[in-house]
Amino acid sequence: MPNPTHSDPGGRPDGRPRLTIVRGDITEQDADAVVNAANSSLLGGGGVDGAIHRKGGPDILAECRDLRASQYGKGLPTGRAVATTAGRLPARWVIHTVGPVWAKNEDRSELLASCYRESLRVAGELGARTVAFPAVSTGVYGWPLEDGARIAVETVREAETAVEEVRFVLFDERAYAAFAQHVG
Ligand code: ADP
Repeated sequence: MPNPTHSDPGGRPDGRPRLTIVRGDITEQDADAVVNAANSSLLGGGGVDGAIHRKGGPDILAECRDLRASQYGKGLPTGRAVATTAGRLPARWVIHTVGPVWAKNEDRSELLASCYRESLRVAGELGARTVAFPAVSTGVYGWPLEDGARIAVETVREAETAVEEVRFVLFDERAYAAFAQHVG
């Protein structure tokens, strides 16, 4: 089945990335960098994280272990991002970011926005032109999809970055529909 794709007509030339949404699997994306919805241990988990390590092979995990040993012994803080190479994935880099767990009685939106901003900052430092994001925190971490989509799109749209294209890669139709409300 062909993936539906949809592009924001805006984007460049104002230093803001062009936004695209696509239904698909982030591990198959031909982008300079793909973002992993990691956990703070950097040692792998379920969902996107599991898929990236499974398909990308052991080199990614080895680099994550090195990062832990050298800089993130207490874990990568929520809202931060760090890069490794991408092993056997088509991408050049994986940018690991730690989304906040959704909390009913606490507004953690700024931390979720920070994941997108920090990932773009790291991507810019790497020289990545295209970056693919999953819907961070909307799986195991329980963030309501519509709200997670709004925060993702607003944050990326406002980012000043050298990244030229941000592609949101949505795993299922519901997630695609949530993002489609904000892109286009
Ligand atoms: P988190 O722990 O940040 O919630 P998850 O990996 O559990 O991360 O889920 C984040 C989002 O990614 C969910 O919407 C989930 O459906 C989606 N997802 C899971 N696997 C993939 C994949 N291979 N490619 C893209 N999105 C995926």
